[in-house]
Amino acid sequence: MIPAKLISVQTGSGNLQKTFKGSSVTYGEDEILKHPLYKNVLYELEKAGKHIGINRNVMERLRLPRRSIRVSIPVRMDNDSVQVFNGYRVQHNHTLGPFKGGIRYHPGVNIGEVAALASLMTYKNSLLNLPLGGAKGGVQLDPSALSKAELESLTRRFTSELSPFIGPDKDIPAPDVGTNSETMAWMLDTYSLESGFSQTGVVTGKPIEIGGSKGRNSATGLGVVYALEKALEVQNKDISEVTIAVQGFGKVGLHACVEAHALGARIVAVSDRSGGCFNPKGLNITELIHYVEEHRFIKGYPKGEDITNEELLTMDVDAVIPCALDGVINADNMKNIKTSLIVEGANGPTAPEVGEYLSNNGALIVPDILANGGGVIVSYFEWVQDIGWLFWTEKEVRNKLKDIIYMSFDKVWKFAEDHPDKSKGKCNDLRLAAMGVSLMRLEKAMKLRGQAW
Ligand code: GLU
Repeated sequence: MIPAKLISVQTGSGNLQKTFKGSSVTYGEDEILKHPLYKNVLYELEKAGKHIGINRNVMERLRLPRRSIRVSIPVRMDNDSVQVFNGYRVQHNHTLGPFKGGIRYHPGVNIGEVAALASLMTYKNSLLNLPLGGAKGGVQLDPSALSKAELESLTRRFTSELSPFIGPDKDIPAPDVGTNSETMAWMLDTYSLESGFSQTGVVTGKPIEIGGSKGRNSATGLGVVYALEKALEVQNKDISEVTIAVQGFGKVGLHACVEAHALGARIVAVSDRSGGCFNPKGLNITELIHYVEEHRFIKGYPKGEDITNEELLTMDVDAVIPCALDGVINADNMKNIKTSLIVEGANGPTAPEVGEYLSNNGALIVPDILANGGGVIVSYFEWVQDIGWLFWTEKEVRNKLKDIIYMSFDKVWKFAEDHPDKSKGKCNDLRLAAMGVSLMRLEKAMKLRGQAW
């Protein structure tokens, strides 16, 4: 029989076994290890670990998440039926600080995907020099198929199930695909009700009125553009002179378009899940936003030519910015990719061997853990502001975000120069370099904490 509170937990310490009877020691190890995205992350981990000779204990600890939690979430639907959803939270590593990472609502969510994304958060937070570990959560559902009342009820139940494991000092969720500031407000409220006082620091990405940070909504997109600027700089190009294609027009893609447009970039193609639009003269982003507000999707936007997502990715532009889901640049389309710069706004859009193929052919890929770090960076700022009860201006947030992305890019670039690929000379595999910077920090921290020797 499935225990009501918690189906199973994998934990390094075993403490939870005492608190939650019925939980098994491991949960989902097989499913995690065979998930394609998890395999990709492990491949990158092992490749970078070998390239720089990372300590064996460190590698061993990072191979599997520290704790994976699965809960079942019964929801009373509007028609009075009960539907049960699968919810997950995977806490990958907390050597550097409390676990941190988003919550995804999407039909493709499963333990393997959540674990892969949780491990990416560990590497991202380490690379960006944040005092945070890595986690991710999700519920397997299509949020557009649920009413607002159903989503609220589900989110509250999910939060309640997770409440022993999350908290401002333990694990701080945030929005991801399919969730937003409203979801975070419900989580904050449920958690605070259970603790008996308001705990604004339990989630980030919440509305400004209840402890959110200025600039959080646009943070990931803005970070993508700062990373784009740096990558163009090493290619001796200026953002005001380039053409760009952006896949995705949601939380990340839309803001990346707005910010790049403001800096003078010509955005010639944009897409969402309905398809895309191409205009060689450049799209008017403000007009496109109004169109999507009215018609929900980009498809049919009259001031350009209809294109498919596939056509967008293979365009001959200065930069392609995938800001939707993982795996979109893959073995099927890699030979058709023409751009010399890919900036990964999404998590895991390029498979490792595909990235290697493109890098070998001269393309520069700014990896997800660097390019889309803006979200968690401003989440960190939000958490700091909540703890200190002192709030910053938008200008302060943007400047500090820029500093971190610029500094992280420089560190990755230098690492690539200092660790050349022996067979090919200078390493232009920025994913390998980013993982290298990240792993070196984790290794140092684990050694200092006596977790590796
Ligand atoms: N979901 C975002 C990411 O993948 C933000 C996570 C956070 O702010 O904790 O980086």
